[in-house]
Amino acid sequence: MISNTTYDVIVVGGGPIGSTAARYAKLNGIERVLVVEENASIGSPVQCAGLLSVAALRETDIDPNSSFVYNSVKGAKVYPPSGKQLKIVGKETKAYVVSRKMFDRKAAEMAANAGAEYLMKAQAVGLKDAVFADDSGNMSGMKYKALEVLHAGVLKTFYAKVIIAADGVRSSVSKFAGLSPCEKVLSGIQIEANYRTEDKEFVEMFVGGEAPGFFAWSIPVSENISRIGLAVDPESVQKLSEKLEKKSSEDFAAAYAVAYLDNLLTNPVISEKIQSGYSDFVVGGIPIGPMKKTYASGLMVVGDAAGQCKPVSGGGIYTGAVAAKIAAIVAAEAIAENDFSEKKMSEYEKRWKKELGKEFDIGMRAHNYRMKLTDEEMNKVFDALNDPEILDLITEYGDMDHPSVLIQKLVLSKHSLKMAKLFGTFLKTLL
Ligand SMILES: Cc1cc2nc3c(=O)[nH]c(=O)nc-3n(C[C@H](O)[C@H](O)[C@H](O)COP(=O)(O)OP(=O)(O)OC[C@H]3O[C@@H](n4cnc5c(N)ncnc54)[C@H](O)[C@@H]3O)c2cc1C
Repeated sequence: MISNTTYDVIVVGGGPIGSTAARYAKLNGIERVLVVEENASIGSPVQCAGLLSVAALRETDIDPNSSFVYNSVKGAKVYPPSGKQLKIVGKETKAYVVSRKMFDRKAAEMAANAGAEYLMKAQAVGLKDAVFADDSGNMSGMKYKALEVLHAGVLKTFYAKVIIAADGVRSSVSKFAGLSPCEKVLSGIQIEANYRTEDKEFVEMFVGGEAPGFFAWSIPVSENISRIGLAVDPESVQKLSEKLEKKSSEDFAAAYAVAYLDNLLTNPVISEKIQSGYSDFVVGGIPIGPMKKTYASGLMVVGDAAGQCKPVSGGGIYTGAVAAKIAAIVAAEAIAENDFSEKKMSEYEKRWKKELGKEFDIGMRAHNYRMKLTDEEMNKVFDALNDPEILDLITEYGDMDHPSVLIQKLVLSKHSLKMAKLFGTFLKTLL
């Protein structure tokens, strides 16, 4: 009855988080692991700015000296609507600018080397429960998930004890399992252009009306090339427009992101350095505010599929990799205990929430606070932050992956009164 289409674990999605889950499934002793990927090639199309924190590379065990790292970054020059620059200088390298395509391929290569199989051009199109008879003909013996896959145009069924859904922001597998979506999806857009970078150790960030509800960026790939983009929050864009009622906010924001990008390119900080023409045009959604429930019997949802991007920065590699490793461990335990129940899978959610829950929670509150600020209020916030002692605190405690640490330091610092006046409503929500 059990054929070679039967696996212990099937990971849907060969992105970096799916590959990390597959590799750790193998490293945790799981025998048969399959990754199904709908695209014909790993890492393409790219939907990322490719700014990966030091911790993101550490979490995926990928060596930053590898050939896919183009640049390293120590700090940021942040521009509020007033145009007054706030320079944040890190003590050491905070992040790497990478080729996401090569990074994804490296993650897949490492998973394959660990023994995971890959099936390309294989799109998951359905999910059901299946029960096999065991050796004594007992039908309740072995419960499997039946994954319907369209492989190069042919419909096939694969069976697995555990499915790990790592199928990205538009996850169909979590929909097949009846799970609710994440809180919101930001619309991101980016180009790569010839750009005269003044200091390639610093990213440039633009907050306020340039990118309603989120921020815009210029990420130096080299002295002569930069990735220039932005993401907008559909709710903020909605507020700025009167015509939205008839459209879904996400589609609407995506359409508007293009207009915001055109506008960004006219910002004096950018326009004086950008040269004509650009290569690489990236559009994609950034899911924030994780799904309320990230598991079902025999199923765990990880990475963008679960809405596990950081609400403050939009990065999803570090957080997704942390969750992927936990999912792999829970899958190994479930197989050892022959327990694929919802209760067993809920262990995954308990454990990732222990690691990441606080950051997501504080991050969403910070995001919602940021969304409400007018350009004038944003200027006041940045004027107040532009204080040598506060900048020292940011240098000391700023952490792309754990912004809550800095937030707490600011609240507890001798500047707390000033902070309380500025961030009053936000700080209250933290207490
Ligand atoms: C504009 C933009 C900029 C970003 N910049 C950064 C950044 O600088 N740093 C950072 O850390 N993060 C960034 N992110 C977020 C980051 O790209 C994601 O968090 C990351 O790609 C998540 O990895 P993943 O493996 O969960 O999902 P994905 O990378 O989306 O991979 C999902 C995979 O599943 C496959 N798939 C989907 N459906 C199916 C199906 N039904 N069957 C089979 N396969 C399927 C897809 O083809 C894809 O290969 C950015 C996102 C955007 C949109």
